[in-house]
Amino acid sequence: MIDMEIILANPRGFCAGVYMAIDVIDQLLDICPDETIYVYHEIVHNRHVVERFIKKGVVFVEDIEETPEGSIVVFSAHGVSPRIRKASEKRSLTTVDATCPLVTKVHAEAIRLARQGYEILLIGHENHQEVIGTKGEAPDSIKVVESHEHAQVIEVTEGKPLAYLTQTTLSTDDAEVIINALKKRFPDIKPPASNSICYATTNRQRAVRALAPSTDLTLVVGSANSSNSVRLAEISENVGTKAHLIDDSSDIDPDWFAGDDVRKLLLTAGASAPEDLLRGVIRMLIDRFGGFVEQHHVDHEDIEFGLPGTLKKLMRKQDINPSDRRIRINMSADIDAWFDDQKIQHSTVDLTVGRSERE
Ligand code: SF4
Repeated sequence: MIDMEIILANPRGFCAGVYMAIDVIDQLLDICPDETIYVYHEIVHNRHVVERFIKKGVVFVEDIEETPEGSIVVFSAHGVSPRIRKASEKRSLTTVDATCPLVTKVHAEAIRLARQGYEILLIGHENHQEVIGTKGEAPDSIKVVESHEHAQVIEVTEGKPLAYLTQTTLSTDDAEVIINALKKRFPDIKPPASNSICYATTNRQRAVRALAPSTDLTLVVGSANSSNSVRLAEISENVGTKAHLIDDSSDIDPDWFAGDDVRKLLLTAGASAPEDLLRGVIRMLIDRFGGFVEQHHVDHEDIEFGLPGTLKKLMRKQDINPSDRRIRINMSADIDAWFDDQKIQHSTVDLTVGRSERE
């Protein structure tokens, strides 16, 4: 036993968009017990979340044609293109749009800029579901820029005004480098009306950037296809602390702790990673190494998104008041109670310098 000091990052884990998207499926399962709920694409990019819903009978599809005509389909938090919306209409599907409102905001800005005649450079990952959806809003006006190198060579249409937007879950550091390269090449390029990297991505990255330098290792709970989780591990490595992305405690390799070099560890979770998986990691580390947990609050978040209109209508039809049914979670109070219950020594350090960024 080495008595490990576990620094627990705050904010971490579920963001408002993920809470809402998961709540959408939970509510549908509850109010439509006799219907199969279809979801276009993984509701959020987390293996456990998807597997848990599959066990409850939810069917995930990557092609809208796989849904039976007239069925209920949920669009994932990452958003969809107009092509998917049209195809759903053609199949007479009842669509419940769980797109995060912050992604919808980027779609709206892309549509507006395209209508104004701008060519839009969308900074992001070409094959990411969110980028596919945003690009689909104005495919002839949007080009994806994936890297700093790409920004140096991307060809733009002569005579067209230029604007840029970003995927919501990019590394703020990487995006800045790409934006600077674009500004250097195209000094008149128009920035977005407000930062399109979302508050949750920004805050989770800020916490890792502030806390990782003083630790020996960072563990990020999240899936490999979760953009914001991958970015958290990258940021830790960028500030000099080795990081591993893990789906759950079973991914932890004992070799990472060989030689007792890891005495202080930073633990965080991507925006789509359930808190119970993070608790499983804490339990395992304390059992194995002994020690205590220090929660470090770098920011406080209190953002909540409402349920989609179609779902509210379905609920009202059954005389259910949507606002009575939301799950409200006070993560800090909740985890303090869990630590006490688990007899894990814990304390809290408040490093808050300001309220979380609001949209
Ligand atoms: S990470 Fe940001 S954009 Fe994505 S669902 Fe969460 S709040 Fe919305």
